[in-house]
Amino acid sequence: MPPVADDIERLEVCSQCDSVVGLSALQKGETACCGRCGHELERFHGWTPRQLLAVCLTAWIMLIHVLAYPLVTLDVRGNLQSTSIWESILFAWESGNMVVGWMTFLTAVLLPVSELAVITSALWCISARAYPRVLVWALRAVEVARNWNMLAVFLLGVLVALIKLTTIGQLDIGLGLVSMSVLVVLLAVLARVDAHTLWRMAEEKGLVPQSHLPLHIDTADPRWHRKFLICHSCGMVHSAPQEDLQAQGRMPACTRCGATLRHRKKHSLARCWALLITALVFYIPANLLPIMATGTLNEPPTEHTILSGVVDLYRSGSWGIAIVVFVASLAVPVIKFLVLGWLLLSIQFKWLGNVAQNAVLFRAMELIGQWSMLDVFVVVLLAALVHFDGLMEVKIGAAAWSFGTMVVFTMLAAQHFDPRLLWDAYDEACADAQNGNTAGTMDRSPPTEEARESA
Ligand SMILES: [Zn+2]
Ligand SMILES: [Zn+2]
Repeated sequence: MPPVADDIERLEVCSQCDSVVGLSALQKGETACCGRCGHELERFHGWTPRQLLAVCLTAWIMLIHVLAYPLVTLDVRGNLQSTSIWESILFAWESGNMVVGWMTFLTAVLLPVSELAVITSALWCISARAYPRVLVWALRAVEVARNWNMLAVFLLGVLVALIKLTTIGQLDIGLGLVSMSVLVVLLAVLARVDAHTLWRMAEEKGLVPQSHLPLHIDTADPRWHRKFLICHSCGMVHSAPQEDLQAQGRMPACTRCGATLRHRKKHSLARCWALLITALVFYIPANLLPIMATGTLNEPPTEHTILSGVVDLYRSGSWGIAIVVFVASLAVPVIKFLVLGWLLLSIQFKWLGNVAQNAVLFRAMELIGQWSMLDVFVVVLLAALVHFDGLMEVKIGAAAWSFGTMVVFTMLAAQHFDPRLLWDAYDEACADAQNGNTAGTMDRSPPTEEARESA
């Protein structure tokens, strides 16, 4: 058994590569990362639950303003048109674009509200040391709501729409837009305290059982890491021999949060391929069909695809915003297809390559995933703002719903991908190369000191 460094307080299993990592109390500006795959395990935040609750309360006030007040008012030759987030969604529904309306409602209204609700209830339970059942439910929901909350993308969409509209009329920024900007900043502050940190806070208050491994584990057994199961939902480490579970033909539930315990995500590769191919199918009409159509009093309607919209922006001199739309709508989806395809193939064909680099690629892809929704939000806002009967109007095109659906499927594909399979394939390839020696334990022993990085 390797010696464990004196300052290490606890051992945890990295959720991205199954390495055992020793952690100690972090100082200001420090981040604890996995020494094997580089995944961030914990970051110093310095916030108490009560301070975070105050941030939540401010966020709720901003949220009410976002929902109640107009985002922007457009003045075209004395004709005024204003829109709030609700009115944009209602306009999409009423104009027959149900899928686009529902996507905007779910990602820009319902999930931001849900995220704030679950974080507030979790922090309140932690502060009050009460209602552990509500706390567990809220903590399980935090990451789901956070992954699909696209309010920041919607805000960028408003800004892009405003830049496009400066050429046709005067714009008046509403209280809704100012509040939305503050709300996005507050949600970013809350996002620094991830679900893992909230679970740790609940552990410290004695509301939930401790999640980590005992400080001294026997790594002499080459399959020792298979004797532990980490809960995908809450990070709780369970001592449960995989072979016994397989023999029983069933998987137990996490004793802390109730989620089903699995060694790896179920049918990860097959589901990932299916979702990726479905996304690819939607990607074709998303680029070929018009995403919006513009019409004016004296001219027939003009249809714009995503690419022609970028070219128009560039020609009109807004090259900065043209680059933003190009990256979000055209480059990011292609990067996601290539990266995810590459990762799936590298696992299936055991292409060793640089496995740590592949793990970084996966995390980067997860981070940029939702920003592709930008153009869909831009079109929803333009359609809601520019509909002056007979004078000028913008209509949502057929590409908007196929593009939005493509983004949803690529995000689902990324969420079904299990990054630990990269390391499994790597270990198996190493084991093959060493004629079945003890490669299965390579790099998985407890580190003698914490991997730290200055933030
Ligand atoms: Zn790791
Ligand atoms: Zn759990």
